[in-house]
Amino acid sequence: MKCGFITLGCKVNIYESNALKEELRNRGFEVVEAEDDCDVYVINTCSVTNMADSKSRKMIRKCIKMNPNAVICAMGCYVQTNPEAKEIEGVDILIGNGNKKSAVDKIIECLNNNRKEKIIDILDILETTEYEKLGVTTYDHTRAFVKIEDGCQNFCTFCIIPYARGPVRCKDADSVIKELQMIADNGYQEVVLAGIHTGRYRDGDTNLSKLIARILKEVPKLKRVRLSSIEINEVDDDFIRMMGETDVLANHLHLPLQAGADTTLKAMNRRYNKQYFIDKVNKIKAVRPDISISTDIIVGFPGETEEDFMETYNLAKDLEMSKLHVFPYSKRAGTVAAKMKQVQDSIKKDRTTRLIHLSDELEVEYAKKFIGQKMDCIVEQVTGENRMIGHTSNFLQVTLPLDPKYLKKQVNVRILSVENGKILGIIEN
Ligand code: SF4
Repeated sequence: MKCGFITLGCKVNIYESNALKEELRNRGFEVVEAEDDCDVYVINTCSVTNMADSKSRKMIRKCIKMNPNAVICAMGCYVQTNPEAKEIEGVDILIGNGNKKSAVDKIIECLNNNRKEKIIDILDILETTEYEKLGVTTYDHTRAFVKIEDGCQNFCTFCIIPYARGPVRCKDADSVIKELQMIADNGYQEVVLAGIHTGRYRDGDTNLSKLIARILKEVPKLKRVRLSSIEINEVDDDFIRMMGETDVLANHLHLPLQAGADTTLKAMNRRYNKQYFIDKVNKIKAVRPDISISTDIIVGFPGETEEDFMETYNLAKDLEMSKLHVFPYSKRAGTVAAKMKQVQDSIKKDRTTRLIHLSDELEVEYAKKFIGQKMDCIVEQVTGENRMIGHTSNFLQVTLPLDPKYLKKQVNVRILSVENGKILGIIEN
């Protein structure tokens, strides 16, 4: 049986899809990218914006069209938050969040009864307290992702995620350690700890810092531990102290800023202000002066004035961020911000362009600081002719002359130059 898989959205969705792909393979399915002659299609959807909803619907319809006789299983955030998903003709299985693990059983059930009945398995996610344990042991790259947390209860006014993913639930620390040991035994050098709101990790009295301390002690084979992202108000003193004490914790943090003006932050319900963000970043830089800090910024949030936007622009510049992920504000039905007075599209477009230019400049400026320096790098893959690439601890992507014996290894590289956005280096072990 051939199962075509489509995954939309974030790292957490990718992790969950990987876990399901692994289970499908273990149960005899051939798992492929969605193509014409599949017997089953799984579409793991996203709902972060109205556009993501529409893409999710489009992908479901595309699969139905590819093979109208196949079993169609739609799951995830779009299914969870949009009752209309039930009306899409041709869908056999609908699974929300929090019970994706049941997908493979449901697919087999549906195949066995020749698609006679529609199967709907959608939990009341806001009442869900249990963490759904999914696990992955093999990855395509040297970097493995491990989901340690699900859910968010921050209710930022632009975001639908708390309604799609439910409250914070965490994988117990023993299971995280076990999964990481397996990953390290399988030869992976680097792991990314991922979640919707990773900084809220809790298992009894184990918070994120304590979990990382356990990982460093109990999984010594791992060369690098990275966080997918962490909210600024969850970077506490323990975490900062740990950053100063170990270089296994990557020299890169993704700290979503979203906006630099206090009025916008307040309207977004972000629970920190500009000065708080600055003070925290300075504290982090006191222990890691050359750390790479990347961020997410929403441009054209309802009510954002040109002055507000320039505060964001100047803050990202003054903090010498290494990369800005710029998102023009996009309405999501069902959120508070969708009902606020919107900024004109042309203004959003202009501000987005300016911020993307700034991001390009900041990225090059940050990389140039390391020209001539020797840095540790994990070599990941061959690219083009006689070249391979790897990432340093501070997430510089370095292009190196091809030498296959170093593939998937941690090496020392010297940064030679930054040309047209490409960072060139050589191995100096
Ligand atoms: S912190 Fe805010 S933006 Fe992030 S998932 Fe939670 S509600 Fe959404």
